[in-house]
Amino acid sequence: MTVQKNKELESLRLKIRALTSEIMAKVQERTQLARQVGEVKGRLGIDVKDEKVEQEIRLMVARQAEESGMGKEFALRLLSVLLQESELVQEKSRPLKARQTHISIFRKAKQMEAAGSRIIHLEVGEPDFPAPAQVGNALAESFAKRQYHYTDTRGIPALLDAIAKKTGVIEDRVIVTPGGRFAVFSAIAALVRPGEEIITIEPAWPAYKECADFVGARTKVLRTTMEKGWTPDVSELAAMVTENTKMIAINYPNNPTGKVINEKTMDGIVSLARDHALYLLSDEVYSNYSFAPFESALSYSYDRSVVVSSFSKTYAMTGFRVGYAVASVDTIRQMAKVQAAGITSVAEPVQRAALVALGQDASGNVDLMKKRLTFLSSRLKEMSLRFIEPDGAMYIYPQLPAGEDVELVEKLLEKGVAIAPGSGFGDSYRQFVRISACRPEEEMAEGLNMMEKVLRREN
Ligand code: PLP
Repeated sequence: MTVQKNKELESLRLKIRALTSEIMAKVQERTQLARQVGEVKGRLGIDVKDEKVEQEIRLMVARQAEESGMGKEFALRLLSVLLQESELVQEKSRPLKARQTHISIFRKAKQMEAAGSRIIHLEVGEPDFPAPAQVGNALAESFAKRQYHYTDTRGIPALLDAIAKKTGVIEDRVIVTPGGRFAVFSAIAALVRPGEEIITIEPAWPAYKECADFVGARTKVLRTTMEKGWTPDVSELAAMVTENTKMIAINYPNNPTGKVINEKTMDGIVSLARDHALYLLSDEVYSNYSFAPFESALSYSYDRSVVVSSFSKTYAMTGFRVGYAVASVDTIRQMAKVQAAGITSVAEPVQRAALVALGQDASGNVDLMKKRLTFLSSRLKEMSLRFIEPDGAMYIYPQLPAGEDVELVEKLLEKGVAIAPGSGFGDSYRQFVRISACRPEEEMAEGLNMMEKVLRREN
């Protein structure tokens, strides 16, 4: 390099450095202002998130980017990072409210059990019935035949083939994952970049937001209400889509409400995704536990859909950690890259056990779950609690007559009954609790009797 060129480069670098420093100082100034906004909102009791204000800023930035030739997509991504930081500092400047989820209650309950207490577990979605006996045989056989090696990241051919046949797709559109949870994670990690948005529908299983946070994506929330039967309003959903939105995450049959949306609503969601070329992450791990007509996202042949399934719930195989996703060949390739980086492949014996499980009839489990949910529902009616009858899944989500969820949940836990706080599925649901139907009726009855006493303040 000539001395002249060297000098030119050096001078440009110095300018960039100075500009970067200026940008950082401005960002810091913005963060200070956001902190003050948080304090004012806290005093006035206003929510941190304000979609309308965000949208105004977004439009302003998009316009400015277009005028300056900066590139709208990049500008909006940058803005998202700033908005995310604002939200974070605003949240921090508010007084802390006790935050509990079904997982934190489960952990506490386990500690109490280890210390000798008897606990009735109505807080987790873990079926109490055994996995099919053939699954155990498959594990043993796998060992005997030395089938315990690394496999292709997407899975062993026999299992990929069986899943492809079951779901009516070609084998290249399938990936076997360590549980539905990792399928959700790898879909989000592969398809959504930092600063981009995912829309979730609350109340919701918290993992969608957790995964989004982990990859630096932003979550926008459509809230549904018991009054409207937990049905998402598609026009509200449409109004939330911005140029920065990349994915809508849905989960039906739903955890925690048990809701299954009707065909019209599902049609509306898929059309919306199609119109805006959004990924549609459809978590269908409870599809077998559906007592109302359920339409899988797969039936729409939408090339940006990612359908997540699991062996955990249908076959009571939670600890095996095995599930799968079906998506386009390209999406599966991208998800496989995440999986290869993180885990190489699902354990081979587990995949062989899953293959055997697929051939088993799980209708007994489904009938049992339905019977238990009917039992829970009639008992909650006797207690005069309000709720929507579940159309599926393994839970019931009643509203409390008064008071907040965490208060009741903690009191009940002291009495040896673990249930999940409603706010673990969304901040707006502090008046709800989730009761899971994964224990025998006698135990559930005992748990609900105690809940009735605590609600009446008799105990
Ligand atoms: N999706 C939903 C909606 C769930 O409720 C759960 C578990 O509770 C999962 C996925 C995770 O299932 P897996 O055990 O397959 O990871």
